[in-house]
Amino acid sequence: MKKISIDQEKCIGCGFCENCNPNLFKINQDSFKAEIVGDLSLEDIEEVKKIIDNCPVKAIKIE
Ligand code: SF4
Repeated sequence: MKKISIDQEKCIGCGFCENCNPNLFKINQDSFKAEIVGDLSLEDIEEVKKIIDNCPVKAIKIE
């Protein structure tokens, strides 16, 4: 099963990923960085690839 990861060093907390899919991404209100809050399903993969491409600092990866 594939997993999403977010490089906490790179993330600037812009909120783009959460706006696109709040079921998977959430900005942590203490760190102001994105974290993963859901499981990646097959239906989500194409959308997540677009979010990965548009993250301004390329902090998101599928492993
Ligand atoms: S889009 Fe990228 S930089 Fe913006 S909050 Fe999500 S992971 Fe962080």
